[in-house]
Amino acid sequence: MGLFDWIKNSGEKLRRVEDKIYQQRTDFVEIYQRNLALEKEIAQRTEELHKANQTLLTLEHVWDMMNSSRPLSSVLETIVSSLHGEFRYLYSCIIQKQLDTKGEFFAFKTYLQNEFSMKLDNCIKTPLFETRISIGKDTSLYEAIENKKFKFYPIDENIFKLLFPENYFPEMVEEFKKTTCAKSFMMLPIVSKEFTGFLAVFSPREEPKESEVNFLNLFARQIELAITIANLFETVKKQAVTDPLTELFNRRFYEDALAREAKRALRLNQPFTLISLDLDKLKHINDMHGHAAGDAAIKTVANVITKNSRSVDVPSRVGGEEFTIILPGVDTNGGLIAAERIRASLEAEHVESVGKITASIGVATFIEQTSNLDELTDIADKAMYFAKQNGRNQVKLAETEGEVSWQNVAIDAFVQILDNHKIPFSASMAEDLSQKLQTKQKKASGDSTKDLLYKVVDTISKSYAPQHQEGITKSKVQLASAIAKRFELSKADVDKLKIAMLLYDIGNIMLPNDLLKKTSPLTDEEKETITKHPIYAAQEILKPISHISNIIPIIEHHHESWDGTGYPSKKKGDDIPLISQIILIVDSYFAMISDRPYRKAYSENEAVEEIKKSRGKKYSEELTDEFIHSIEDLKRM
Ligand code: GH3
Ligand code: MG
Repeated sequence: MGLFDWIKNSGEKLRRVEDKIYQQRTDFVEIYQRNLALEKEIAQRTEELHKANQTLLTLEHVWDMMNSSRPLSSVLETIVSSLHGEFRYLYSCIIQKQLDTKGEFFAFKTYLQNEFSMKLDNCIKTPLFETRISIGKDTSLYEAIENKKFKFYPIDENIFKLLFPENYFPEMVEEFKKTTCAKSFMMLPIVSKEFTGFLAVFSPREEPKESEVNFLNLFARQIELAITIANLFETVKKQAVTDPLTELFNRRFYEDALAREAKRALRLNQPFTLISLDLDKLKHINDMHGHAAGDAAIKTVANVITKNSRSVDVPSRVGGEEFTIILPGVDTNGGLIAAERIRASLEAEHVESVGKITASIGVATFIEQTSNLDELTDIADKAMYFAKQNGRNQVKLAETEGEVSWQNVAIDAFVQILDNHKIPFSASMAEDLSQKLQTKQKKASGDSTKDLLYKVVDTISKSYAPQHQEGITKSKVQLASAIAKRFELSKADVDKLKIAMLLYDIGNIMLPNDLLKKTSPLTDEEKETITKHPIYAAQEILKPISHISNIIPIIEHHHESWDGTGYPSKKKGDDIPLISQIILIVDSYFAMISDRPYRKAYSENEAVEEIKKSRGKKYSEELTDEFIHSIEDLKRM
């Protein structure tokens, strides 16, 4: 092959390759265009699916709302606001036909405030929610509502004349067009047995699509259903939770509310007060004046309670003549004030054909007095019965079982100590105290139990320390409790502390008398006796009393020093039980402000200064500080 042929051949080949490339390129363009079309279709379908999904979600949401037992107004508000997002409406609301003395009119049933509603307010010069909409009976709008027909209007003066015939003025429309981008107004009638009205929608589009109208119709039907269900719920709920005679809550609601409130109180660490009230002498009223008069008395109590309750309170009739009121967030002081107000205003009432009536009232506070719900209702009832026994027509604060029980533990311990005759105490005196304690324990009532205990401790203390002042024991327990409160000790620990405060020095009773009275400096041996003996003695005296075994180690270590220089075990820092540390500081303070055979008493301020000197040494820094705060707290009381 010559050169020419070779060139010709090669040119041929090149053309063929070029053709091939060209062919492939057109193939590619075709594929590319097909893909583009496909992608477009997919996007369109996805969009449709997305929309359908959203509609479904909205409807599902509406459905959930309807099945919740929330009040109708809140159900409707949520339904309407979920519509906004759906079609990007500017505003939607439900308007209800109503009747008053001036005749028929339409008013807002749901009122959601947004930017649009404020502009509309501005245009019509009155707030929407106050607007009385008088749609003329001869208008197309009224007719559409009556015949349950969907209607849409472009935004112009006609729709304003229809909706606000009384407020209408031409500038209203211009202002509206200028400030909003609303293009049309749609009306969907909502008509059910108990409701006539319509869903009103302002749309940014000139005309609704068919799918939109279909959806809105579906939506309107859902609203009708929601109204029916909510009304049903409300009637049933009201019947189920109210007492028909007084319209207060019934026992079932009260019990649920109480459980709810207790959970809330614990979560927020906030108290609530329970008032338990019983009408006095109802049987007598019934017998003397008949059952109707008895009923009138019960209703009077209910009215007085309602008048004196805040909206968050839960007043209930829990039995024939028994009432309760739950006062959320109210502590003991507030509870007592509220109870007294009810008592006084009931006493001031006059019941037809009966005259004056009175009630006995118990008050108990959750968390403050007990964190156990059963105990709360129990002590509130007991307080109420106590008010009855005490002469009726009065308010009594509950006594916590806990308080009674720490006192009972202490009483038990003292009775056993006195009965054991281990202590050098005159037998008749021991007998006498023991007797008093035992009768008290059976009655187990209130403050006087504590006072008796303090008296017993004062008496025992005097037997080995004649200079012991009456009343010191009570002050010691108060100061110790105040410190315990600052440390947020548990109730169980506070109880332990209180019992230990009564018992920690009991061993002194076994010290030789002459040693206690000695005014000259003590020998080392005597010091040893003073420091160790009370511990052993206390152990000996307390050990046989099994139910206070957890108190013994506390007492044993109440002379340990924070820096490890105390006795008997030279314990140091946090190894010393906090309760023992509290006893030490309280004991030291009261020792300082009392006379001793070997020195005069310090003043209270001097004693505090002395204590401060031992900050971080004998007492921890924190304990010293809390001690000072507590002293200040108590002075203010
Ligand atoms: P106390 O001061 O000790 O509470 O005396 P009381 O008579 O109110 O107490 P008691 O519990 O002995 O009697 C309550 C009476 O209340 C007995 C019952 O017939 C009457 N009672 C209970 N429910 C109703 C009621 O709905 N209407 C009327 N009229 N009386 C009722
Ligand atoms: Mg009664």
